[in-house]
Amino acid sequence: MNIVLLGAPGAGKGTQASMIEERFHLVHISTGDIFRANIKGSTPIGKVAKSYIDAGKLVPDEVTCDIVKDRLAADDVKSGYMLDGFPRNLFQAAELDRFAHIDLCINIDVDVSLLLDRICGRRVCSCGESYHVSTLNGATACKKCGGTLYQRDDDNPETVGKRLDTYFNETAPLVEYYKNQGKLFTVKSGKQPPEEVFAVIAAELERRSGK
Ligand code: ADP
Ligand code: ZN
Repeated sequence: MNIVLLGAPGAGKGTQASMIEERFHLVHISTGDIFRANIKGSTPIGKVAKSYIDAGKLVPDEVTCDIVKDRLAADDVKSGYMLDGFPRNLFQAAELDRFAHIDLCINIDVDVSLLLDRICGRRVCSCGESYHVSTLNGATACKKCGGTLYQRDDDNPETVGKRLDTYFNETAPLVEYYKNQGKLFTVKSGKQPPEEVFAVIAAELERRSGK
């Protein structure tokens, strides 16, 4: 099964993705993680991406679509994958439909009022795991790999406002796009723990895969 994870910044896409990956063995592909790895390695793509990311804008479609297209050509995604952070506008969604077959879009719906705190309290690991300061109890190491946690450069109140604007203007219309294709599954994520959101998603995935 090939899945698109949709949701505002801070909705918990990455957190759900790592739980889905563990249980359902779908390959997790995060465009944000790919960009951050490129920035860290000072690659040409990283250099282009950085200015957009720091401004809370979308990295240009040509760059982003090429990255995803290449990634989906690899052998390891043949038995199913999850896209986290792609597509992020209608152009990308239409492009994706040209080079891939998507079965399901999981839309994680969160009240805007919760997003700022979630993003600004987020601490991440280079392995892809993310945490919230409220549950870390002062810990500074990743529970999964032991790596040192850090705060993303774009997880500051100023950039977050711009990222939310970008989300509502450009990405939110994708909810309608996937609804029209009959592929939309929406899960509400409020103050309940990630495990409860995951239980809802897992039940749906199990129902669909006839387990
Ligand atoms: P979040 O979902 O918390 O905003 P991501 O890690 O998915 O974080 O993305 C971080 C940044 O990377 C985005 O704000 C954007 O600048 C860039 N980016 C990620 N995915 C895409 C995409 N599909 N198209 C354009 N830019 C993207
Ligand atoms: Zn880690």
